[in-house]
Amino acid sequence: MNWISDWALPKISGLFKREVPENLWHKCPACEQMIFRRDLEAALHVCPHCGHHMRISAVRRLECTLDPGFSRIELPRAPADPLRFRDQRRYTERLKEAQAKSAMDDAVAVAHGTIEGQRAVVAAMEFAFMGGSMGAGVGEAIVTAAKLAVLQDAPLIVFTASGGARMQEGAISLMQMPRTVIATRLVKEAGLPFIVVMCDPTTGGVTASFAMLGDIHIAEPGALIGFAGARVIEQTVREKLPEGFQRAEYLLEHGILDLVVKRSEMRATLARVIGLLRVPLVEAATAPAAEVPALPAPEEPTEQPAQA
Ligand SMILES: [Zn+2]
Repeated sequence: MNWISDWALPKISGLFKREVPENLWHKCPACEQMIFRRDLEAALHVCPHCGHHMRISAVRRLECTLDPGFSRIELPRAPADPLRFRDQRRYTERLKEAQAKSAMDDAVAVAHGTIEGQRAVVAAMEFAFMGGSMGAGVGEAIVTAAKLAVLQDAPLIVFTASGGARMQEGAISLMQMPRTVIATRLVKEAGLPFIVVMCDPTTGGVTASFAMLGDIHIAEPGALIGFAGARVIEQTVREKLPEGFQRAEYLLEHGILDLVVKRSEMRATLARVIGLLRVPLVEAATAPAAEVPALPAPEEPTEQPAQA
């Protein structure tokens, strides 16, 4: 009737309207229980009811693995759409969409820093970016991470999450398999540990290249790890596949993995593994220079004849 009730009040209430976030609750895909999003975030996206490990972003992975203060590095740009590929849509369109959605240039984020005080270079794959598929950009990122590890004399840790090759890059995608294999060789030739943490899912060309070449193979519980899909294998071999086939626990039992580690224990486990692999090397390298008091005694007699 009057302008206050008809016009001013709705405007004012509109201004002060509290926005209720739509995604306050999250449904666990395994047990279908509802989880408060803040609790889920605090539990590193592991279901508090059934322990199901949900997929997390590459950036979140870096945050929950490395100590605060780590630096993410800028990755070299690979040629976008080298084949000018188009299916229902242009590959460049799909790329732009994925980049906007994930705020990443491609499906890998690389950072260097420390894990519970142990230096490390960490590369994490982003499954939400076109299924974590490996094109030239991903290959470039793994090569860069490996070179950085060598430069910094630090172990390389790669969290894999990928559907395999990036179809839109054809043969160029397949060439990333030998490229990444050579990258892992660089790390090994420098005497540095290369640790692979397989996350759900690790399949196709990534499994068939650098993911299976780690010194230590760790996986998250329940992660799907394999080359071809179970249905394709079943149709080819015409046999019913065993329960839990291609899951982390099955692969641990069959010797493909060294450890299956809960997300909440991943940081501490990685720090412990790096410590075990690195301490003897560090001691050997620094002992003569750093630990002066312990060593001179046996050395002196051998030096005296030389001086005389
Ligand atoms: Zn659950």
